Amino acid sequence: AYVITEPCIDTKDGACTVACPVDCIYEGGRMFYIQPEECINCGLCLSVCPVDAILWDEEMPAERLFLRDVNRDFFADE
Ligand code: SF4
Repeated sequence: AYVITEPCIDTKDGACTVACPVDCIYEGGRMFYIQPEECINCGLCLSVCPVDAILWDEEMPAERLFLRDVNRDFFADE
């Protein structure tokens, strides 16, 4: 699954939200989050992010995998 990571914090460019064909990127207080159950893994958001904040979780180093949980937890609170 695609995950938005630290470079988004306080950047919040938002280009990804325009690029996403299923509108599954939601705005939080300091960054955007991808709703993992709605994301169709198309990858379109990656190419438009000016700070390269969006990563594929299976290619993330282990110490950054907590960010996948951060994204998931954002939606668990709703
Ligand atoms: Fe949206 Fe595609 Fe990015 Fe998933 S991978 S958040 S569906 S643009």
